[in-house]
Amino acid sequence: MKAKEIIESLPKDVTLVAVTKTKSVQTIIRLYDLGVREMGENRVQELLDKYEQLPKDIHWHLIGHLQRNKVKYIAPFISMIHSVDSLRLVQEINKEAIKNSRTIPILLQVKVAKEESKYGILPNELEEFVKQFQKTPLEGISLRGIMGMATLSYDDHQVDQEFLELKNHFDTIKNKYFNTVSTFDILSMGMSSDYQIAIERGSTMVRIGSALYK
Ligand SMILES: *Cc1c(COP(=O)(O)O)cnc(C)c1O
Repeated sequence: MKAKEIIESLPKDVTLVAVTKTKSVQTIIRLYDLGVREMGENRVQELLDKYEQLPKDIHWHLIGHLQRNKVKYIAPFISMIHSVDSLRLVQEINKEAIKNSRTIPILLQVKVAKEESKYGILPNELEEFVKQFQKTPLEGISLRGIMGMATLSYDDHQVDQEFLELKNHFDTIKNKYFNTVSTFDILSMGMSSDYQIAIERGSTMVRIGSALYK
C-alpha cells in the first residue's frame, strides 16, 4: 500500500480523507492501523455498512450525492457532508441534525469541472445560495467551506485553473459572508490524480482513494 508514503508526504495543515468506497473492511483496517481516522464514502448504504463494522472513533465523511430521504440514516453519526448543493437538502440535514441534538458540518459542492456531471452549485449561483442560506436559521448546521472537483483530465493546466477558480470562490465567500466566522475554513479539493496540484492551490482537505491502495 502506498498509503504510508502519501500520508507522510502531505503538509501538516492538509487533512486526508481516505476514500474507502468499494474497499473491504480488512483493507480499511490497514489504513486505520496507520492512524487514518477521516474516511470518506460516496454512497449511503455502503457508508452505513462500514460504520457498523468498523471502529467507532472513525470520522465518516459523505462525499457523494445525497438524496434527502437518506439524510436520516447518517444524521446520528456523520462527521461531515461534502456534497451539499440544494437548499432543500440543507433544510433536511438541519431537521435531522436537530432531531439528533447535533450540529452537522457541511460543505457546499461547487461545480467548476467542464464535464457533464450533474451535481454541484454553479459558480454564478453560489453567492445567491449563500445569501439564502444566511437568511435561514439553521441550528443544526455548521457551514464549514466548499468542496469541488476538477475535470478528469491529463491537462494539468486545466486542472490547475479549476482549482484556482475554486480557491477564488472560497476566498470570496469567506471574505464577503463569513469574515467574522473563523469556522468557514475548509476547502475540500484534490483526489488521487490531482491532489498535489490542489494543495498548491490552497486545498485544506484532500479526498484520496485509489492511490492509497496501490
Ligand atoms: C471516489 C471519489 C474520490 C477519490 O477518487 P480517487 O481518484 O480514487 O482518489 C474523491 N472524491 C469523490 C467525490 C469521489 O467520489
